Formats: sequence, C-alpha cells, structure tokens
Amino acid sequence: MNAMNAQLPDQHGRIKRKLRISLTDRCNFRCTYCMPEHPAWLPRAQLLSGPELLRLAGLFVDQGITQIRLTGGEPLLRPDLMAVVDQLQDLKSRGLKRISMTTNASRMAPVASRLVQAGIDDFNVSLDAIDGDTFARMTGRGIAPVLKGIAALQDAGAPVKINAVVVRGQNEHQVLPLLQWCMQRGLSLRYIEYMPLDAPGHWQRQNVVGEDDILAAIGAAHTVEKLPRGPDPASPYLVDGHFPMGIISTVTHPFCASCDRLRITATGELYTCLFSRTGTPLGASLRAGDDDPAIVHLLRRAVWNKEPGYASTPGPVERPLLMHAMGG
Ligand code: SAM
Ligand code: SF4
Repeated sequence: MNAMNAQLPDQHGRIKRKLRISLTDRCNFRCTYCMPEHPAWLPRAQLLSGPELLRLAGLFVDQGITQIRLTGGEPLLRPDLMAVVDQLQDLKSRGLKRISMTTNASRMAPVASRLVQAGIDDFNVSLDAIDGDTFARMTGRGIAPVLKGIAALQDAGAPVKINAVVVRGQNEHQVLPLLQWCMQRGLSLRYIEYMPLDAPGHWQRQNVVGEDDILAAIGAAHTVEKLPRGPDPASPYLVDGHFPMGIISTVTHPFCASCDRLRITATGELYTCLFSRTGTPLGASLRAGDDDPAIVHLLRRAVWNKEPGYASTPGPVERPLLMHAMGG
C-alpha cells in the first residue's frame, strides 16, 4: 500500500483521518472551563522543535492522515508558527488535503492574511459570548482583539467557524445573541457542551448546557431543522432554513462510534482519544533516536488499541494533562 491510500484503523473499525497537533501548552487566555487560574507550563525544552513536529506529522500523513488541525494552548503563541505552516504545505504532496487552525484569535489581526497566504485552509475561533463582560468573566481577557482577529480573517477571505462552549451560570444567556451575531456576519457557528477536561474537581454535570437546552433556547426565536449527521463531531442543524449551525454534544450524545481523530500534544505524546488516561510518547521515541519504522510501529499499535471512547466511560478523567495541554 503506498502513502496515498494508506489507512490507519482501530480495533473498532474506525479509520483515522484527522490529526490535531498542539503547538504549545501555553495560552494568553485563562478560560475557566479549560485550565486552572495559575497553570504550570511545560519546560520549553520538552516541546517538540519545528523539525521534530514536522517529522512526526509526515509519518502520520504517510499512514493515512488527510487533515491536520493546529491547536494549543494558543497556536499563535508559537514563535516559529510561520515556518511550521510553510513546511506543513510540503505534506500536501504526500496526501495531506487540509490544514486548519483552532485559535482564540486575540493575536490574529496582524498575521491573518499571512496565515491564509501560507496555506491555512480554515479557522475555528473560540468565542463564548458576544457580551464583553461575560466574555471577560469566562476567559479572563477582553473581547476587542478577538473581534478584530475574526474581522481580519474574514477580510483575508478565510472560512471561519465560531466555537462556543456553553456553561450553565456563565453564558447560557449568550446562546441566542451569539447565533444572531454570527448570522449577521455569515460566520458558521458550533456550540460545544462543557466537557470534564478542566482543572480537577471543577467540572460539574449540572453545569453542562446540553444539546436539547441549546435547541430550546434557539427554538424560542428561530426555526431549527435537524440535518443528517456526517463525519463531523457536531450534530448539524439549519436555522431559519439557511444558516448552518452545529452542536458538539460529547456529554449528552457522544459520537465516539464515528470518531476519526487523533491528537498529539506539544511534547509529541499521541492521545487516541480526548478522554484517554495516558498517551504514547512518540516524541520521546523520536528523541531517543528511533527510526521512522519504529515510530510508525508504535503509532499504529496505539491507534489499533484505541478505546471505545467517552460513551463507554463517561465522567471526569483522572490524569495530569488538562484541556489546554491537549488542544481540544
Ligand atoms: N486556544 C485555542 C482556542 O481556544 O480555540 C485552541 C485550544 S482550545 C483547548 C481548543 C478548543 O477546546 C476551544 O474551542 C475551546 O473552547 C475548547 N475547550 C476547552 N476546554 C473545554 C471544555 N472543558 N469543554 C469543551 N470544550 C473545551
Ligand atoms: Fe486558552 Fe483556548 Fe484554553 Fe481558552 S480554550 S484557555 S484560549 S487554550
């Protein structure tokens, strides 16, 4: 089998196509649902260098990954981001089809057009509220640079999707204003249920605003039509007959059976599931001098052994790695 038609299956028959790469665990925001107030960052020397990261990414593409999403922490904090994006483009000749980014966009305005020109195909921007006070309470930072960043991406002609985590008692009153703001600007929108991946003991089931609650809030002012589910983790809907909206309902309607994603942390640990307790240290293997076939053997074995997912073991995961280090 050559690289262009390679496949990366797990023992449950799911073929992996998407890889999320966390470029750094560091972030300039302090979203309450993502990290503790005083996070401990990893020592810089432990983060994969650009060449190490590109070597790993290439091995995944050779095994059948067709979409890479750059995330973090905040990917825009990575000093060599432009070089990484430029060199990832070379993987398009080896079977990679899309390079995307998930970002808080607070530092996007000055670099948006360069990133689009460098070949980032689409962007997901986190925006949990359109009301500035609510946004500041949830993220610890101001909303103005984020709105500027979103506008710069739109001006540069990039496809932009807004991601909003909905947490009870914090921003459920923003479900409708966010929708209307996105509709006015032609930005597609996905709501995300609050998942138990933040600081230990912080997540409470009663603070999850579920897919049904979100639909009820929207249904009070708009028509909402359910669409057939595709490979995307979001349940798709059409609002008022024309506006695409999605809900990622990991907690109330897990989509594990169709999961086609893998994740590597900024230190090169492979997590085959967002909720895995442990990862496979591909970065350490690479730094120990292992050759490509040895690393490929490790990664294929880890993917094959992927657990069924959140649907089979719901609830908080006990592990030191929090959401900001995993990359969402
Ligand atoms: N800093 C970037 C950002 O915020 O878009 C990228 C990293 S962030 C960890 C990736 C995604 O994870 C964001 O959309 C964020 O809202 C989401 N996220 C973080 N913690 C979450 C949680 N506990 N439950 C659900 N989504 C979460
Ligand atoms: Fe940072 Fe993104 Fe986590 Fe917010 S969700 S703290 S922006 S990594």
